[in-house]
Amino acid sequence: MDRITIFAPATVANVSCAFDVLGFPLEETGDRMNFVKTNQKGIQIKMLGNSNLPTEPEKNVAGVVALAMLEQTKVDFGVEIEIDKRIKPGSGIGSSAASAAGAAFGMNLLLENRFNTTELIKFAMLGEKLASGTAHADNVAPAITGGFALVRSYEPLDVVKINVPNELYVTILHPQIEVKTSDSRKILKKDLELKTAIKQWGNIAGLISALHTSDYELLSRSLEDVIIEPIRSVFIPLFYEVKKALAEAGTLGSGISGSGPSIFALSKGKETAEKAAKAMQMVYSQTQIDFDIHISKVASQGCRIIRNNNE
Ligand code: ADP
Repeated sequence: MDRITIFAPATVANVSCAFDVLGFPLEETGDRMNFVKTNQKGIQIKMLGNSNLPTEPEKNVAGVVALAMLEQTKVDFGVEIEIDKRIKPGSGIGSSAASAAGAAFGMNLLLENRFNTTELIKFAMLGEKLASGTAHADNVAPAITGGFALVRSYEPLDVVKINVPNELYVTILHPQIEVKTSDSRKILKKDLELKTAIKQWGNIAGLISALHTSDYELLSRSLEDVIIEPIRSVFIPLFYEVKKALAEAGTLGSGISGSGPSIFALSKGKETAEKAAKAMQMVYSQTQIDFDIHISKVASQGCRIIRNNNE
């Protein structure tokens, strides 16, 4: 395998009550990446289209992941990575994670699949470390495993892949405002009251059970975040107006995607996901803020091959 094209999905992390531990990929929204074996050793990065992301491999998340994999394998070739970036950086739907996970997945194909899933997630986490300062896994894990990925533990890394109910769709509103991850971390409280924690872990357990059994009503009741959302929502204009409109549109529930500013809503079926998009549009057209809306099935597959030019 000398040349390969892959799809690397956008992801929603911090799924409502499951802050920092659960994420899922989108089926239709994501980046495309080409990997070409070269005689010249090392990694070269090319950004396709008009992106101002860095092309020095040490500064690009795909580059740091690929360099680490080359370093560990000591192969006698290099790789050129072309990135067609379709997920806007800083949107809260895992832009850096798509490049990091895509790099781990694509490089592994050129390296004859010598790394397992946990190893790929660990490589991809190096990219997240570069992008945000912390090697978090809740975007890169689902981008690699597909389905809902539960990061049960970091030391040692233990990621559990969970079923996606068949008719589960997500609608995402991306207001084009900047919310710095560092700011949205800073305002979080350090301590919790026990009764608040109990409410949250009841909801997380309900959510996991609902995913396993495709119980949409339980899923809906469990999509409630009593800890993070009340604090972080201050950064997102008209957050509660959007949430109310989404509930009226019949969605199962909604919340902040990643550290924002994007808002996600989960729905049973495409029709409701489209109604959610209209509801988001109605509320946000009252503002002066530019926005994008994505509708996608929740993907049970993560990164995938689009084209293998050797076949
Ligand atoms: P999101 O909020 O959508 O998850 P991030 O904030 O994680 O996006 O990632 C964006 C940051 O990562 C930006 O600072 C960007 O410059 C940096 N970055 C470096 N390389 C890449 C890349 N290949 N793709 C996306 N972002 C990258």
